[in-house]
Amino acid sequence: MRLRPTQLAAALAAGLLTWIVSTGIAFPPPQSTGGGVEAESATATHASATRAPIVMPSATQPQTITGIHQAPPLTQAAIEPVEAATATPLPLFWPTPDAGVAQRGLVLPILTYHYVEPWPDQASPLRQGLTVRPDDFAAQMQFLVDEGYTTISLYALIDSLATGTPLPERPVVLTFDDGYAGLFDYAAPVLLRADQTATVFVITEFVDQERPEYLSWSDLRFMHSLGWSVEPHTKTHIGLDGLRYERQLYEMLGSIETIEANLGVRPRFFNYPSGSYDETTLALAPEVGLWGGVTTAGGWYHRYADRYTLTRIRVTGHTDLAHFAEILDYGR
Ligand SMILES: [Zn+2]
Repeated sequence: MRLRPTQLAAALAAGLLTWIVSTGIAFPPPQSTGGGVEAESATATHASATRAPIVMPSATQPQTITGIHQAPPLTQAAIEPVEAATATPLPLFWPTPDAGVAQRGLVLPILTYHYVEPWPDQASPLRQGLTVRPDDFAAQMQFLVDEGYTTISLYALIDSLATGTPLPERPVVLTFDDGYAGLFDYAAPVLLRADQTATVFVITEFVDQERPEYLSWSDLRFMHSLGWSVEPHTKTHIGLDGLRYERQLYEMLGSIETIEANLGVRPRFFNYPSGSYDETTLALAPEVGLWGGVTTAGGWYHRYADRYTLTRIRVTGHTDLAHFAEILDYGR
């Protein structure tokens, strides 16, 4: 049964454990990120400094949602582990590059997803390609955990590039473009269960317009509380290449400030729609306070100097587990 995100938001806190268990994945208990004490303390600082307030329904609230949320109400104790699910170190301030920055490079995959949900009836080949089905996504995340990969944020990546801060073993970044509503139902619970995190790039005007196919601000606040980074993908999903300065400023700063207003934390990473950007875009990026940006160009190798044009690897609806393993293995 497909539930609307608004229904889910109300059911989430009460049915959280069942929600994640319902993914049917037997993940091992959360592991250390490998980032050491410093990483863990940084995480704690970030979490307490930026988490948006979440209104939890009463544990005694009758539960009327059916389907994957048919669980009895949970106690607060069962909900609490979620508070510790933000496992990625996040620098709170601009990471100042050290003397070794020019020599430093990292090889790791930044994966690009779009939809995670069942294929719609009579989905076009394009839509199928953009849509990773829930079972496939769960298998991919299971593979990540089984093989000892750890998801990190773009914040951790840029910090490591700038300063050499150690990353966990086998780091990988998960990014989700456009902020489709299905992520709330099909991606967020799987990642929560796996104690992993991800980045979602949202088109802020579409969220403001409450378009049903996109995540709402309520959804995004909840996902942010689970450790997701919520970052801008312009206001209107327009290609930036060739646009005049004022329009680019509007699309970039406007989407940044909209997220800041709704989540209480300023986003620092941008996603250029369709990988479309130009010199104006790259000049604007630091001016509007961005720390980095991702493109649609493919690649595993990252340097600080390329932080505004980070390369990624796309996972499609046709990526089988063997191919997924190859994508990850290449980045090792
Ligand atoms: Zn997009």
